[in-house]
Amino acid sequence: MQPSNEPSFRDSVDIMFNRAVALMDLPPGLEEKIRVCNATYTVRFGVRLRGKIQTFTGYRSVHSEHMEPVKGGIRYSLGVNQNEVEALAALMTYKCALVEAPFGGSKGGLCIDPRDYDDHELELITRRFAYELIKRDMINPAQNVPAPDMGTGEREMAWIADQYKRMNTTDINGVACVTGKPTHAGGIQGRTEATGRGVQYALHAFFRDGMGLDKAGLKGPLRDKRVIVQGLGNVGYHAAKFLSEEDGCRITAIIERDGALHDEGGLDVEAVYQWIAKHGTITGYPDATLEADGARLLENDCDVLIPAALEGVINLGNAERIKAPLVIEAANGPVTAGADEILRDKGTVIVPDMYANAGGVTVSYFEWVKNLSHIRFGRMQRRQEEARHQLIVDELERLSADSGIGWQLSPNFKEKYLRGAGELELVRSGLDDTMSTAYESMAQVWHGREDVRDLRTAAYLVSIDKVAASYRAKGL
Ligand code: GLU
Repeated sequence: MQPSNEPSFRDSVDIMFNRAVALMDLPPGLEEKIRVCNATYTVRFGVRLRGKIQTFTGYRSVHSEHMEPVKGGIRYSLGVNQNEVEALAALMTYKCALVEAPFGGSKGGLCIDPRDYDDHELELITRRFAYELIKRDMINPAQNVPAPDMGTGEREMAWIADQYKRMNTTDINGVACVTGKPTHAGGIQGRTEATGRGVQYALHAFFRDGMGLDKAGLKGPLRDKRVIVQGLGNVGYHAAKFLSEEDGCRITAIIERDGALHDEGGLDVEAVYQWIAKHGTITGYPDATLEADGARLLENDCDVLIPAALEGVINLGNAERIKAPLVIEAANGPVTAGADEILRDKGTVIVPDMYANAGGVTVSYFEWVKNLSHIRFGRMQRRQEEARHQLIVDELERLSADSGIGWQLSPNFKEKYLRGAGELELVRSGLDDTMSTAYESMAQVWHGREDVRDLRTAAYLVSIDKVAASYRAKGL
């Protein structure tokens, strides 16, 4: 629970925005234009379920249309309200600008607990919500393109895309009206893992930054670092899995709704995930210590803390006790403005949400481009690339044989080198490049300006600058 003297999520985002613009020299009035949310649409609709009409409340908020379409997920949760979708829409604007995804910011939500409904009921509710948004162009490939968020996934996106197609039968780009679809319904490989993968790439970028590591009081490499993850949903699961299986990090705690699992030797992320999928709870998991008061483990000793669930989990009530020298915000808004201040004063380095979790929207961008171009990435080049690599390998082997040196290319090298990049490799490469480039742009400001003490302010400066430039280009 957040203490009651905490500002709302929307105010928290504005406080952080204001802190950054105070260091900028924007034309009068532009600061206000960028900060405010352009519009928020509230819809109430009825669906006949279990013999009676049930009324649902949904939102779609558009923060900034300096670029269109606007982009951002649709969340299903009982906590959804106008304040929350507006805060999240604002973060989408800054996030897209920072990673150069050519979108304005938007966010939507439906106030339901999806676990209360079966698949068929959820389909009816989703299609009806989509219908309400589509008929007002709030889902449209050229204007507003939703994606998954908390409580939604591929399945809901496929229903939305299909609903759009039913209502716009001649729109050849209809499938681009939403991203995060399954691959058999116009999706792209690597989208489901994208946000978690982006968190991993963000940590790689941070661990390449010697000055950043010094500021956090950490030393490389990433291998063997003790990591605490809060929330084993899509984002937390993929981030924890890749960090432990590929980078050799030790996941020392996993915090969930119903408690936390703890093992200083490192938890088996896949085993925990499978346990939760099977039993619906972490309770009873055999290979770790169970802590009933899960949130307390946020305060445990570790090298990296990854809040990957809800907003506001690090707040005035616990910020002082957070020991991690590095917090990477896989969720949106997990650190309140007040907590941010406390952590900054303590010297904790925070890799901010608008950067850390931008992997999702980055790969959404790739999916949208794929949909508009109507061709899978790599389809034209892959075989040609393989043929050219084969030429080099053949030539090297011939030279080696003819000269009598007798060098042998290792089968592992040949296998890797000869395989042309498919869609998944290209998506990961594009994501890695995006995350490194965006990190460098933030780090330049963070290390280069004396008046910028933290990465969040640096991230805001970079992204507001881009949004402002695009407003200026429009003559506003
Ligand atoms: N919901 C995700 C986010 O908060 C993804 C948005 C998108 O792909 O448009 O960034």
